[in-house]
Amino acid sequence: MIKIKNIKKEYNIEGLVTKVLNGVSLEIKKGEFISIMGPSGSGKSTLMHILGLLDRATNGTYLFNSQDISGWDDKKLASMRNSKVGFVFQSFFLLNRTNILDNVALPLSYTKDQTTINSRQRAKTILNSVNLSHRLQHFPNQISGGEKQRVAIARALINKPSIVFADEPTGNLDSNSGKQIMKIFSDLNKQGNTIVVVTHDINIAKKAERIIKIKDGLIISDNKKRG
Ligand code: ADP
Ligand code: MG
Repeated sequence: MIKIKNIKKEYNIEGLVTKVLNGVSLEIKKGEFISIMGPSGSGKSTLMHILGLLDRATNGTYLFNSQDISGWDDKKLASMRNSKVGFVFQSFFLLNRTNILDNVALPLSYTKDQTTINSRQRAKTILNSVNLSHRLQHFPNQISGGEKQRVAIARALINKPSIVFADEPTGNLDSNSGKQIMKIFSDLNKQGNTIVVVTHDINIAKKAERIIKIKDGLIISDNKKRG
């Protein structure tokens, strides 16, 4: 699904160059459940932004469904991202004045020619799959952090993305809620979703089927669970 080769990324702020990724190569296959693990500042979010088409590499090649994206303009990149990639972030980014059902349904009405009724129907189905059927009419300030993150996961799935990226999705949660979130990702993966979770927490990373460790902008290990 995604294949990157020798990806480098540097930030240049007023002549001060920071090298963040120093030649990262990896392949993500359909149906995988991957964690990208590493200490703070190792380049995890930068790598995820590049993999998720939110940012471009400074160097290297990137194939999305076998297509080289290097020649694509921002518009094409954004349209691919909007239709094929879902994101979950540490801070949930929910709309506070919008109920749970519409927080999940709204992205669909922006990108596709969908009626509100169809969008809400699909949002209900997905909210059911993250065990939130009983919270549809609640507002974000009326639910727990773990529930908010489940709403964000449902929202990420509404467009039926090919792949979902989550950047420290358990970072604002207690360990129990964090475990629940990883269980949901695991269940979603078993239903066929491709999932990449970025974390600095080994206990979270261990829940994935494949653990990629990065340090100083380089992959230092890449292991699949056996069995
Ligand atoms: P991680 O997610 O592993 O904590 P990041 O990818 O966020 O690491 O950041 C890696 C390094 O890149 C850090 O030193 C950070 O300060 C730097 N960095 C990240 N984003 C930017 C940016 N937009 N401009 C300049 N430096 C950045
Ligand atoms: Mg980060």
